[in-house]
Amino acid sequence: MKLTAPAQDALPIGSPFDFRISKVGKVDETDIQSALESGEWGFFHSFTTGTAVDGPGVRLVAWLTGCQFRCAFCHNPDTWKLTNGTPVRIERALEVVKQYKHGLQVMKGGLTISGGEPLMQYRFLAKLFPPSSRRGSIPRWKPMVTSATA
Ligand code: SF4
Repeated sequence: MKLTAPAQDALPIGSPFDFRISKVGKVDETDIQSALESGEWGFFHSFTTGTAVDGPGVRLVAWLTGCQFRCAFCHNPDTWKLTNGTPVRIERALEVVKQYKHGLQVMKGGLTISGGEPLMQYRFLAKLFPPSSRRGSIPRWKPMVTSATA
């Protein structure tokens, strides 16, 4: 795996480039396959903070890359190619999400994953949404995945 770990001098929370701290040039096919199989890396196109139209309450939305559907009405064609995203380690993604968690809970919102087709990275998502966040043990933290296949 040639993907590099995120830099330590991360951008401040709220920066539209916050998830883009590990921008790499060309990622080869073997690395992509390995990243998808392990779920240790996610490919992020971008993210939006404070949206009220992507689920209940106020949402943090992460847009993942990769989609095989090519819908005629797609408004995110720049997310189709997995390599248009920045590879981000699961630890870093969890760290960023955790920093938003309290604020989103107060605003009765949560994290929404969109794309692209997020389920192309289902192993990464399984790590991003641990079982406790799915069973309702954190009732006001409402994780959501928007997907053409869900
Ligand atoms: S599933 Fe979504 S991201 Fe993929 S082509 Fe269709 S509309 Fe676009």
